[in-house]
Amino acid sequence: MRGRLVVVSGPSGAGKSTLIKEALAEVPELAYSVSATTRPPREGEVDGRDYFFLSRGEFERRISEGSFLEWAEYSGNLYGTPEHPVEESLESGHSVILEIELQGARKVHEKRPDAVMVFVRAPSIEETQRRLEGRATETPEALEQRMTTALTELRALEEFDVEVVNGDRGVSREKFIETLREIVRGGSDAERA
Ligand code: ADP
Ligand code: 5GP
Repeated sequence: MRGRLVVVSGPSGAGKSTLIKEALAEVPELAYSVSATTRPPREGEVDGRDYFFLSRGEFERRISEGSFLEWAEYSGNLYGTPEHPVEESLESGHSVILEIELQGARKVHEKRPDAVMVFVRAPSIEETQRRLEGRATETPEALEQRMTTALTELRALEEFDVEVVNGDRGVSREKFIETLREIVRGGSDAERA
């Protein structure tokens, strides 16, 4: 049986990466799709684990080769999902989780209507900003740009099957893990569609 494709999206600072990192340890049936990006690595990020860090030239070459399931420009950098590893995992029966921004999520939804679309957000826009400030990975300009994008992204909530409000860390973590378990099992309780 083919695995399921799970798309996780939502504003920067919502806590997507944190939730996914924790969930992967608990849901072994789920494979994480490592994206490619032209943005520089943050402290502690490892090439091939967190992202494939590419030059713009190399990224564009891969676009022209048709290597990406989807790609998008976000905050001045390119981000894309290499298609081959995703296909291989799905074929071998593993489910795959993508953590991507809204334009990419829409493309995947179009190309793979059976993908389960999960939207993660912080309890409020103010809390989103606090988290981004607390993460301290962006320049003030980049943070402002991410907050502007966040407001647009929040309006897309209704395009998604599942909404996860990432509030209290422990509670949200457990809820997220349970949601992913249900999706991987093929259950539909977590899905609105
Ligand atoms: P995203 O991947 O959505 O951009 P991150 O996972 O990087 O977000 O989280 C953004 C910041 O918020 C990080 O500093 C992280 O430690 C913090 N964070 C994540 N989840 C929570 C939460 N439930 N409550 C408070 N802070 C959180
Ligand atoms: P960050 O720079 O904070 O790691 O990621 C910025 C945004 O790009 C986040 O919303 C993240 O989900 C998204 N992103 C990461 N990988 C991909 C990808 O392969 N494709 C698309 N479209 N977005 C991605």
